[in-house]
Amino acid sequence: MPSTTTSSSKASSSTSSNTSSNTSGKKISPASSSSSGTTREKTASSRKGESTSTDFSTLIKTNPKLSAKPITNKDGDDITEYFDETNVLNAKIEHLVNLINQSKHIVLYTGAGISRAAGIRDYRSPNGVWTMKEKGVKTVAKKDESKIIFPTRTHMAISTLYNAGKIQYVTSQNVDGLHVKSGIPRKNMSELHGNTNVEICHKCNIEYVRNFRCRNNKNVHDHRTGRFCEKCKSELEDTIINFNENLPTDQLERAEENASKADLAIVVGTSMRVNPACSLPQMCKENGGKLVIINLQLTPKDKKADLRIFAEADKVIDTVMKKLALEIPPFILETEYSLESFESVNPTSEKKLIGFKITSPSPLGPMGSKVLRSISLKVHGSKVVSFKDTMMLDPIPSDCTKISAVLKYNLNSIDEKEAKCTIELENPLNITSKSFALKVNTSTNEITVTEK
Ligand SMILES: [Zn+2]
Repeated sequence: MPSTTTSSSKASSSTSSNTSSNTSGKKISPASSSSSGTTREKTASSRKGESTSTDFSTLIKTNPKLSAKPITNKDGDDITEYFDETNVLNAKIEHLVNLINQSKHIVLYTGAGISRAAGIRDYRSPNGVWTMKEKGVKTVAKKDESKIIFPTRTHMAISTLYNAGKIQYVTSQNVDGLHVKSGIPRKNMSELHGNTNVEICHKCNIEYVRNFRCRNNKNVHDHRTGRFCEKCKSELEDTIINFNENLPTDQLERAEENASKADLAIVVGTSMRVNPACSLPQMCKENGGKLVIINLQLTPKDKKADLRIFAEADKVIDTVMKKLALEIPPFILETEYSLESFESVNPTSEKKLIGFKITSPSPLGPMGSKVLRSISLKVHGSKVVSFKDTMMLDPIPSDCTKISAVLKYNLNSIDEKEAKCTIELENPLNITSKSFALKVNTSTNEITVTEK
């Protein structure tokens, strides 16, 4: 029967710790009108009253230790990352936990900052896509289709908070689909800028949720994916909202409805510079609600915040979860493969051959979701043969009762994480097809193989 072995390797994450802190703004400004339109737009950084330039001098005054010069981009936005000192941070998190416990309708707003740990680039951090672009540095040298992206601890914590009834709604600017993968029902969240895994038939209004990236059109405003609706055969379109395109009405309406119902808005990992997403969180203030912003960089909405936390999202959420006595489950990546054996004959030597083929139900090709890079088969002590799709072996000895396969994985090509596991197949000569499910614990990199 199948055996399972596991191995793991390094997972790296380094956190630089700078020291600074900030007063939590107490100002409650008059509630703004609702969001400013339905088109995705960058906010003008020079907008009066929203410039962040004066915030740095306030920070300096309240934090003498903060002597670093702010880094600004060409729009004059301060893109410096600030970190609260440990004791300040702890007090702020305690405050946040109290607010969570006291509130009845909590909406969480997320941005690119929460997906950084998943290996997705954000936009405005010192190494962000836009910052590097300004410096003339090409950030995406080549598209790495083999990269596996899965929810971070923060995503898993958010879905746990949702399931525990601690938060009621999530509004995200992220298109990576990781909230959905983490288990939050799509009806309880708004993906304002779309979801890269979702394509839609606008005629039938049917959405197709895929396990791969749907967008493949190079022309920015052309959303056709090349696939067709199963019902009406119309061309499907990706759901990504680019700048100057309208947001999906239903997503925006639900986001607005929840924004105005909320008594606590928690913003995590966004610099709040894209309309209308950045206008929603403060809507809860119309009902006397509170606004919390957790972000390393200053945001134009900081002055409206009742609590402003400068720390990495993962760090804050980890502590919040501990204080709420909630465990963060690891994300389990599940994927399925089948190994088929078949007989063949070498046309020249007329020797009988045995072949193996690996298939996956995923439409991404034989390597499925690309978790599995290669498989090595070891037949009755003979040499290991690696293959990626199909392989042929010389005849297996007739006394062979066991064949073992080593599966090689690469979860994230950037971190070079790799794990191996072994599956043993009894009586390989009799196998015609064998399916197995792989579960990868993305926290420990542990893999289990179960025969299906
Ligand atoms: Zn259709």
